[in-house]
Amino acid sequence: MRSIVIGGGVAGLAAAVQLAVDGSTVLLVESKDILGGRVRMRDSSSWLLDPGLHLLRRKGPLNQLLRKLRAPRVLGPRWNNGEMLAIDTDASQELTALATMSIGAEGVKRPEFVVPRGGWSSLVGRLIVAANQLDVMFDVGSHVEALALGPDGRLASVRVAGNDIECDELVLAAPPSESARLLESAGLDASELRRCTAQRAAALDIALEGRPMRPYTGLFDANRGIIAIDATAEDRIPEGADPSDCTILHAVNLAGDGPEALQGIKEFLDSRCSGWRDMAAARRSTNSIMLHPCSRSERVDGSTFIDSGITMAGCHVISEYHLSDAAVDTGRSAAKSLKLHR
Ligand SMILES: Cc1cc2nc3c(=O)[nH]c(=O)nc-3n(C[C@H](O)[C@H](O)[C@H](O)COP(=O)(O)OP(=O)(O)OC[C@H]3O[C@@H](n4cnc5c(N)ncnc54)[C@H](O)[C@@H]3O)c2cc1C
Repeated sequence: MRSIVIGGGVAGLAAAVQLAVDGSTVLLVESKDILGGRVRMRDSSSWLLDPGLHLLRRKGPLNQLLRKLRAPRVLGPRWNNGEMLAIDTDASQELTALATMSIGAEGVKRPEFVVPRGGWSSLVGRLIVAANQLDVMFDVGSHVEALALGPDGRLASVRVAGNDIECDELVLAAPPSESARLLESAGLDASELRRCTAQRAAALDIALEGRPMRPYTGLFDANRGIIAIDATAEDRIPEGADPSDCTILHAVNLAGDGPEALQGIKEFLDSRCSGWRDMAAARRSTNSIMLHPCSRSERVDGSTFIDSGITMAGCHVISEYHLSDAAVDTGRSAAKSLKLHR
């Protein structure tokens, strides 16, 4: 089988690995110059500041996949969620907010988290290594322009940077609007995907020379919608620094995005982490970052176009999981559905 995966984020990489394991010849096409999707940014300073919290569910699909790929060095220490402070809510709501990055989500049972060793880039790197070992081919920095179906209504080719590449099946692991555009280029009805409304948030990632959050490992203010966690680990701080004297602080405003939302995070930290501004050694902030490509109720069935040899993956596809776990779950399911349908 000649399989193409569009999108080199976590979902696309998980799909590519699964397709290759199942014996396909796989080409993954990514439009940006680097693989990893939304989580590719990395700070160049000696502090390791992931883009966003990026805690990994200990028993979730991403962690399971990494275990299968025998990537123990990526699986960092368990994050201590027992020392979180819940403000105006209870501990279960707090953990649910952390596991889903949303307010008012359905309860998540006893979530446990790990901090990925070497940060999110190492984790994505491990997926890339696995794909390489399975002979997945990469076309990075090439935009997929259109899809074409044959007379039988099945996928015939994919147009990449002006060239038509013949193939038998496809996993679409691009965000909803781009997936919709590509499906429509083949005359397929993508109106469900068009209904997806991205949920955006303001975020602040900051390295502090001090422990202003002490004695807590995290804070969740239900009214303001703000989560802040301490993800300090030895591999995230400069050589020679003492981890008991540093904080790698990630904060996100789940209530929304924009300058006011970012300001809301800073004022929250002023009220709870006194002196943090004077301790900053490195920082990255964003007024608006896409947290979820759609709301949970807008998620679509990944097998809608299976008769055409096309499946979809990403956090906009129905899954019992959240965030990167949903990306991995839907990526692997998209690949497995294609195999079953051959
Ligand atoms: C602030 C923040 C905090 C987060 N915290 C956590 C957390 O604590 N735990 C957790 O598990 N998850 C977390 N996440 C979520 C996690 O980052 C995402 O769920 C995951 O990265 C999504 O991966 P994806 O592959 O589905 O999508 P993406 O990463 O968006 O990948 C899609 C890829 O498709 C490519 N593409 C688009 N169009 C085309 C085209 N035409 N041709 C070729 N390629 C194309 C894009 O360039 C992109 O690389 C967080 C996210 C943010 C923003």
